[in-house]
Amino acid sequence: MGELMEQDINGLVSRQHSYFAEGETRSLSFRIGQLRRLKEAVQGYESRIMEAVRRDFNKSEYESYLSEYSSVLMEINLMLRHLAKWSKPARVRTPMTHLGSRSYIYAEPYGVTLIIAPWNYPFQLALAPLIGAVAAGNCAVIKPSELAPHTSQTIADMIAEYFPDTYIAVVQGDAEASTALLKERFDYIFYTGSTHVGRLVMQAAADHLTPVTLELGGKSPCIVHHDARLDVAAMRIVWGKFFNAGQTCVAPDYLYVHRSVKDDLVNKLIRAIEEMHGERISIGEFTHIVNDRHFERLETYLEDGKIIYGGGRHKDSRLFEPTLLGEVKWEDRVMREEIFGPILPILEYDSLEEAMRQVNSKSKPLALYLFTESQAVQDRVLREIPFGGGCMNDVIYHLVNPHLPFGGVGESGMGAYHGRASFDLFSHKKSVLKQTTRFDFKFRYPHYKNALKLLKKFYR
Ligand code: NAD
Repeated sequence: MGELMEQDINGLVSRQHSYFAEGETRSLSFRIGQLRRLKEAVQGYESRIMEAVRRDFNKSEYESYLSEYSSVLMEINLMLRHLAKWSKPARVRTPMTHLGSRSYIYAEPYGVTLIIAPWNYPFQLALAPLIGAVAAGNCAVIKPSELAPHTSQTIADMIAEYFPDTYIAVVQGDAEASTALLKERFDYIFYTGSTHVGRLVMQAAADHLTPVTLELGGKSPCIVHHDARLDVAAMRIVWGKFFNAGQTCVAPDYLYVHRSVKDDLVNKLIRAIEEMHGERISIGEFTHIVNDRHFERLETYLEDGKIIYGGGRHKDSRLFEPTLLGEVKWEDRVMREEIFGPILPILEYDSLEEAMRQVNSKSKPLALYLFTESQAVQDRVLREIPFGGGCMNDVIYHLVNPHLPFGGVGESGMGAYHGRASFDLFSHKKSVLKQTTRFDFKFRYPHYKNALKLLKKFYR
């Protein structure tokens, strides 16, 4: 990136600050109007979005429709339905000591926001935060991922066609473009991507004391207890793990199964894979791995264990079969790094205590899944294992309920969004006390002769 690009970025961000200062983005009618416009834009670009993600990594139409297109529309619709209510100043209680006054919380936009997105759901992960930013009345600069260049270009075209860049703009490019953007002063930064880069983003944000949301990754365990309904568990795990070829931040990263049901579960997993993907993989309906570097990284994981099922792959197209991997150890690379691909290592445990101890010895996961018929086991795991979010007897579905805030904890991130949480996240909560001037209690002032005595009496 040359100096010119840095100047362009600096000019763009300055123009957004000036436009925000004019105040136009704040009114409810403007925000609703822009969300409607965004909806129109997404609908107008439906086929181009689907085509772009297919060209980027052969994402199947079924998966793209569900996870890129319709999820964004659902989020816009929900925002449109509730925005008026969520935007109202909220009245809260006021203590007796403040007699004569009323207290309110006002939601106000931060200003100019930066959204940095990854490649794995390249449209959805750039647009979903934008919906929150617009709903709250902010301006936004979006930096989509360079690893999904067709989608990145489609987002840039769509935004440029429907919005002035003083309000919403797209800056395309790689880490260098991101780094140049991060030198600017933003009022809020929303970053989705790896934990490693998340750290760099937070360091850069510290220079301007800009608040950040970090949506990061990590290893999300999927625990299957001995009393689980294995048929259902197998279908749901296979669906969730191999959706987008495992390139999902909340995919079950590894299976942790009670030893007594492992063989039974493995057989059912194989049957589920064949039912869902068996023939499709050969006709190219299975999503591909995004690039050679990731493909080769995944290949090396196969050396860490014994392939129970799958393992087949085509280097040229970067098609990688759904793969079950046994005989892996916690020290292996496949168990130390986020897999982010269609390889499912299977480990066994003998007691719930052992499983919880092992999971708790790692950093707090973005998601955790537990399959069990026991309420007591569910309660115990929920009480004793910290994680971003997750499901009991399912995988991934918590992410697509817009009434559940979505985010990580510890190394898997900070802050949460979707639905109301997105509006809240992109709004500063301004606390205001409105006092009466009809009377004035003298004892609050130090010169009043019995002030301290009265105050002590009052607070007692
Ligand atoms: P990444 O961190 O490599 O890239 C994400 C974005 O950051 C891209 O736009 C990229 O250009 C930019 N970037 C890269 N290097 C940078 C640098 N040095 N400084 C500033 N910006 C930089 O992540 P990725 O490979 O695109 O995505 C995969 C990761 O994202 C996985 O760890 C996955 O779990 C995580 N993820 C998390 C969520 C979530 O919602 N929590 C969702 C999707 C993906």
